[in-house]
Amino acid sequence: MVRLELVEVAGNSYVASGKYGIGVYFDKPSKTAVLIDSGPNASIIEEVCAKISEMEYQIVAVLHTHGHAVNHGGNSYLKKTFPNIRICATHLASYLIENPSFELFVFDAGTGSDEKAEENKGSKRALVTDYLPSKDSTFHIHTIPFKIVSLPGHSPGLVGIITPDHVLYCGDALFGPKTLNKQDILFYHDLMAARRSFKKLLMMKMNAYVLYHGGPYKNVSGLILKHLTIMRDTSDLLEAFIKENPSTLEQLVQKVMNKYELEDNLQRHGLTTSIILAYLKELQQAKKIVAHVEQGMLVFSKSTEA
Ligand SMILES: [Zn+2]
Repeated sequence: MVRLELVEVAGNSYVASGKYGIGVYFDKPSKTAVLIDSGPNASIIEEVCAKISEMEYQIVAVLHTHGHAVNHGGNSYLKKTFPNIRICATHLASYLIENPSFELFVFDAGTGSDEKAEENKGSKRALVTDYLPSKDSTFHIHTIPFKIVSLPGHSPGLVGIITPDHVLYCGDALFGPKTLNKQDILFYHDLMAARRSFKKLLMMKMNAYVLYHGGPYKNVSGLILKHLTIMRDTSDLLEAFIKENPSTLEQLVQKVMNKYELEDNLQRHGLTTSIILAYLKELQQAKKIVAHVEQGMLVFSKSTEA
């Protein structure tokens, strides 16, 4: 097994190597460390903590970008190991962090996965201690100023966190090339908000950007263009399906899953359904399609105005 490393991004801002971009900010004067997100489970965060204590720093807080289980799965371990740790998240993200079973409704439409709810039970004890602002402002851990930037679109209450080194930890506001190449549909629950967040990111001049799925980048404008292309392709595809034949949500989910050869499982189906709903909402707002109920069935068809 490859040992996890802490990679310097800029100054005192670091990121864990490997699949999950857990951030670490080292405050030299106080010898304290602040984590950004905590990974999917105890084993990865344990390795991160071991590296930090080898450097003789004390972990005092974890700042969460958003409330998905892969971002806060290490909290139970952190709370057990550092009982006084501050766990910080926006109100909306806290709702998911403290009630992990709600995530089931996002990922598999609440149709199963008791196993996952069971697995998540432990993190219920690691409650959020501080609310991060959901609007742009500054949040202090002791005397360390972190700038909080609202970047909605992927998950309710998602924020980016800027360290004093001007490194922006974006959470899942953007995905790295591996995710972009593997996934033909991107996970955004609010597309208009995601597009606004992309614009905001394009205006920012940071020393570096850290993606939770993708690691550190000096510049993200190329990646943003790629996101916009994929989003346009998905939207065009759904619009074409609907123009061809009025369709129910279930029919559209089936068409998209078949087209992209997505694996047949409840989680994939639930995730695809929530992503498609976001596109249908946007197409309705643009008056390209309309929704109506026919014999108790919700049907999407082409708009006569388009
Ligand atoms: Zn996420």
